Amino acid sequence: MTSLLNKPAAASPGHGAAFTPHLYSLKYSPDLGWHDGDLLPMDNLSLHPATLGLHYGQVIFEGMKAFRQQDGSVAVFRPWENARRFNRSAARLAMPSLPEQLYVDGVDRLVAADHAELSDHPDHSLYLRPLMFGTDANLMLRPSEEYLFLVMAFVAGGFFGDVVRPVSVLVSRDQARAMPGGTGDVKCAANYGPSFVAQRKAQEAGCQQVVWLDQAERRWVEEMGGMNLFFVRGSGAGAEVFTTPLTGTLLPGVTRDSLLRMAARLGYRVAERPVSVDQWRAGCEAGEITEVFACGTAAVVTPVGRVRDVDGDFTVGDGEMGPVTGALRRALVDLQHGRVPDVDGWLHRVA
Ligand SMILES: *Cc1c(COP(=O)(O)O)cnc(C)c1O
Repeated sequence: MTSLLNKPAAASPGHGAAFTPHLYSLKYSPDLGWHDGDLLPMDNLSLHPATLGLHYGQVIFEGMKAFRQQDGSVAVFRPWENARRFNRSAARLAMPSLPEQLYVDGVDRLVAADHAELSDHPDHSLYLRPLMFGTDANLMLRPSEEYLFLVMAFVAGGFFGDVVRPVSVLVSRDQARAMPGGTGDVKCAANYGPSFVAQRKAQEAGCQQVVWLDQAERRWVEEMGGMNLFFVRGSGAGAEVFTTPLTGTLLPGVTRDSLLRMAARLGYRVAERPVSVDQWRAGCEAGEITEVFACGTAAVVTPVGRVRDVDGDFTVGDGEMGPVTGALRRALVDLQHGRVPDVDGWLHRVA
């Protein structure tokens, strides 16, 4: 439990480039099963140009964070949930399942080796990125036989910068992230590349993020970019916190699940209920929907201040972070850093 807090808490490391020195690697083949687990220096991979995953998108990933604890140790937040979700993604893409213990072991080895990269800066964390892809050098249109499981890590600052500021969102009317029967409820690489055009459109419209709608009726709010959405009705102790239901076309976030339970524990009424864009707008205009926020491993809890849509813009509350959003954000961050009792056993200590 030594704390190696020898890194200066310098400028924000941003999100996605400050990789740590190691890479965990584990191979799969039908004969040997999972084998050759090893911690390697972070370096380029050597891949055959016909690597199946590159061509046919047989690629899945996860996202988790490790946090420096109050006592100097390091803990990963709910890695077993991500291990289960990883296997649901694998099953959807006809990939072999990875025993949860092997998944968590790989994460543990990387975090144990590289956690000194994480300072005790309260806004920094170690973002962990497990990845699995088909490695057969064969272009037959069929699932790969061999696979590679990797875990890499980078030091992360705030996803939207280091100060929590409300984001503005554009409702995507002409593009879809997911469809019924598709892969919207799993974390496969193929869900993300096609979302970049809508994300760019949002930015061109002066917004930071996209809100996705259902594709059957094109009016039910699903989620935002790569984050789940929560809505607050009313205020004070009687406020209700609700999120959109898991219809099969949105990603079941671990943060979403955690906040549903934490909100109930904080005494709020909690629900999973559909909300259309029209209801969102009318609710804000009537002052019934008082706060909206997005949540995810990367974004933590980020308030949504303004919404752009074909019928014009509207503001959520006064456009700033509301009290319920603030309370939930604090509760989550305090728990992740070990500043409050971990009653559910969500912190997985590594070093
Ligand atoms: C990863 C992800 C989320 C958030 O999931 P967490 O487990 O909370 O990080 C939400 N939506 C999409 C589309 C995602 O890819």
